[in-house]
Amino acid sequence: MVLEINKVSKQFGGITALSEVSFSIRQGEILGLIGPNGAGKTTMFNMITAMLPPTSGEILLTKQKINGLKPHEITEKGICRTFQNIRLFPEMTVLENVMMGTHCRNTSGVWSSVFRTKSQKQEEQKINQKASELLGKVNLLEEQETVAKNLAYGQQRRLEIARALASDPTLLLLDEPAAGMNERETEELHELIMRIQEMGITVLLIEHDMPLVMKTCDRIVVLNFGKKIAEGEPKAIQNNPEVIEAYLGSEGDDDIA
Ligand code: ATP
Repeated sequence: MVLEINKVSKQFGGITALSEVSFSIRQGEILGLIGPNGAGKTTMFNMITAMLPPTSGEILLTKQKINGLKPHEITEKGICRTFQNIRLFPEMTVLENVMMGTHCRNTSGVWSSVFRTKSQKQEEQKINQKASELLGKVNLLEEQETVAKNLAYGQQRRLEIARALASDPTLLLLDEPAAGMNERETEELHELIMRIQEMGITVLLIEHDMPLVMKTCDRIVVLNFGKKIAEGEPKAIQNNPEVIEAYLGSEGDDDIA
């Protein structure tokens, strides 16, 4: 198991966003985390990445408890995420954005940066090369000198994924990566997530695009009103009466069937 969520709950004042939720992610799998609006999916991401502390419960990364760590320590341990609302450095180029993502793995200290020592220059070259390789993987190599804010929406989402990959994650959390994408962009995203899995990276995916979830995920966990209501392979989830009921009763546009 890469990640284990054990009876995790989160209260916001009187609101119970998550209630004793447990699930695990196996090495190399793509796990979907789905549920109607307000089910608690993003809150779960925020707790895994230490942006929020759980009210109770435990989060383990390869058997080690990680709740209580700081967000940058979580990144150093190999968990990285993208956000529902894209968070890029809009005035920087595409290449610079990805180079920023390597930050937590860089070894040169302040002085070697100030004096531009040989080792600093070598490290910069390596970072540059790695960033270019990642841009190749997300099909953005030709845009590497483009300022991020000028990219099309689907490209910005792919850039955010490349920047997350630059920190060498073992576990990548994607929060609604297909939001706002057209059919062609969504298909490219599917292929990209499959390539990420081939790279040996485990993926936890929050997504409302059901066809994408069904064909991309190995397993799916379903939340509703902060509780886990189902867990299993895509086909079983699609035919689960409680899951269908949860989606039919929701006000969103999702269609599970
Ligand atoms: P969506 O699919 O709409 O993004 P979600 O499944 O990601 O929804 P969350 O954003 O995790 O759901 O929200 C779960 C519940 O917790 C909701 O009732 C939400 O209003 C509440 N909530 C989330 N963050 C906070 C907060 N910082 N303060 C108070 N309540 C919050």
